[in-house]
Amino acid sequence: MLDLRFDNTFVRELPGDPETGAHPRQVLGALHSRVMPTPVAAPRVLAWSRETAEMLGMGAADVESAAFADVFGGNRLLPGMQPYAANYGGHQFGNWAGQLGDGRAISLGEVVNAAGQRWELQLKGAGLTPYSRGADGRAVLRSSIREFLCSEAMHHLGVPTTRALCLIGTGESVVRDMFYDGNARAEPGAIVCRVAPSFIRFGNFELPASRGDTALLRQLADFTIRRDFTDIAARHAPGSEALYAAWFGEVCVRTAHLVAHWMRVGFVHGVMNTDNLSILGLTIDYGPYGWIDNFDPDWTPNTTDRERRRYRFGQQVQIAYWNLGRLAGAIAPLFADHGPLHAGLQRYVDTVVDADRAHIAAKLGLLDCSDDDVALMQALHTLLQENEVDMTLFFRQLADVDASSGDRTPLRESFYHEEKYAASQAAFAAWLQHYAQRLAQDGLPPAQRRARMNSANPRYVLRNYLAQQAIDRAEQGDLAGVHDLLDVLRRPYEDQPGREAFAQRRPDWARSRAGCSMLSCSS
Ligand code: AMP
Ligand code: MG
Repeated sequence: MLDLRFDNTFVRELPGDPETGAHPRQVLGALHSRVMPTPVAAPRVLAWSRETAEMLGMGAADVESAAFADVFGGNRLLPGMQPYAANYGGHQFGNWAGQLGDGRAISLGEVVNAAGQRWELQLKGAGLTPYSRGADGRAVLRSSIREFLCSEAMHHLGVPTTRALCLIGTGESVVRDMFYDGNARAEPGAIVCRVAPSFIRFGNFELPASRGDTALLRQLADFTIRRDFTDIAARHAPGSEALYAAWFGEVCVRTAHLVAHWMRVGFVHGVMNTDNLSILGLTIDYGPYGWIDNFDPDWTPNTTDRERRRYRFGQQVQIAYWNLGRLAGAIAPLFADHGPLHAGLQRYVDTVVDADRAHIAAKLGLLDCSDDDVALMQALHTLLQENEVDMTLFFRQLADVDASSGDRTPLRESFYHEEKYAASQAAFAAWLQHYAQRLAQDGLPPAQRRARMNSANPRYVLRNYLAQQAIDRAEQGDLAGVHDLLDVLRRPYEDQPGREAFAQRRPDWARSRAGCSMLSCSS
């Protein structure tokens, strides 16, 4: 049982903090601090992901073993585990925030599975670390459910992401003031075990750079490339500028694909601080994220960002670019001149444009995407926004519309307001006419077009209110809602008869309910 092989390169090859214990401190000249998870009262497995377990070489028998909840609740270590918290900084909401670090995430070690893949295991909510900065190092059930479900949902949607092995109830409560308005309450605590090849963020590079510690910066860059960018490492001389240039370019390309996918599926990260951007181009740190219901580029789920809306849906492409600019600035000391960094940023722009075009073609069921098609999609976005149309439902239903007939009945259920459906008749008819002309010219056979659209436009996403309903039930001790969602979201592109309830418009009651359209960083 729980027979995992560990090979902990991060703590073995990179300098660590000589101090131990979880007392708060600035950690200079080191990239991690060894710290033990704080044991919890009564760890219990609330949910687990079959796919992620399999990836690690585990199955139901492991999850059901007596040790599992203890290990992933932070009460017990397996042989080979070497817990640590990583030291990183970051730009938060546009400003340099100095040292941040894993304030409540504790990595247990790096598993090497039978296929030779490396997967780091990390507990989120496992207690105090030197980076907790006055906070409690814990996580509440609601935010842990959100992270657990969304990690797996994103994977099945084909969006790069960290994964989630399990959700453990701690049997302890955690006090949180959800909207920072003086209404603190005790909530059930939980821990998610996250899984990724690496949890290194842009901010891991920014911190040593901000301190002028180029040797440490170089050590981290060399380590990251050697371990996680093996193709690039094989093609360039160690320590060469060509190596760093190729690596930065690759980070830019991956980040472009990541954000283009978010735009395709209607995901709003909510806190795109540089400490929340993965060097591998994975979606990381699921906090006050949200899914677009009615199409609205100005929407952000994060109440902490309500005024400026820096991290709104429609600005994610620009923000990722800005963040890459901060990363470029951090690694600049590795370059004699900045040409390769500018070239990398340009690769981001080119890749995001290309990826977006590929997604436009797929979402509209076209073989490829011309400039006119970009304009066609923009026109559609305007219509969807003006008429408050549900993004997921609309694109999914579009595959069932015979555009040449102009009959838009299949789209009706994607409208939030009957009046707007009626009033937009002419505008949508005109758009459908253009679309029909374009389809006629494109010539993809209808069945293939439909299949192409249905593989880019999910039927099921983790709608904010669905997650909240599952959370409400879980807080009452009923985990079935979490398990059902996990199961539905395994096959987001397939119509699942009997599961229509998971593919509906946001109900009116959820419009302005906490957790459904409003979230904060308090988690
Ligand atoms: P986030 O906004 O969740 O990405 O967190 C930003 C920083 O705050 C990171 O350094 C986190 O580790 C830290 N942090 C957030 N919540 C907590 C908490 N409950 N206890 C300790 N540190 C936290
Ligand atoms: Mg974070």
